[in-house]
Amino acid sequence: MRSKDWQPFLLRLHLDQRSPAFTALGERSTFLEEVLFLSDSERSSELERSFTTPLPQLLGLAVTHELGHAICHEMDETAANRIAEQLRAGRSADCSRARGLAPIQELALHRRSLNLRP
Ligand SMILES: [Zn+2]
Repeated sequence: MRSKDWQPFLLRLHLDQRSPAFTALGERSTFLEEVLFLSDSERSSELERSFTTPLPQLLGLAVTHELGHAICHEMDETAANRIAEQLRAGRSADCSRARGLAPIQELALHRRSLNLRP
């Protein structure tokens, strides 16, 4: 998604404004901010400072983290990070401890995303 649209989008979803990526499990969709693929912008410098990570590595971290959510249908951030580490180490994702979504959470996510479509 274009960076100029990213902040208003995160604001509407009540998500962390610093984040350059998120996954909507109910929609089976992962969203990445354009800045992850571009360099030399004020926003890319801001992200590098915020995450103390160079932009090329940040893209890999963001993608593997979001895969951690998506592959195991995992909502928990710590668990997504654990799964991301497995993927970056070249291992398969271990979803055995994944908590997943309860049907009511799935429904809430689905309704929320439907209401927020542009
Ligand atoms: Zn996450």
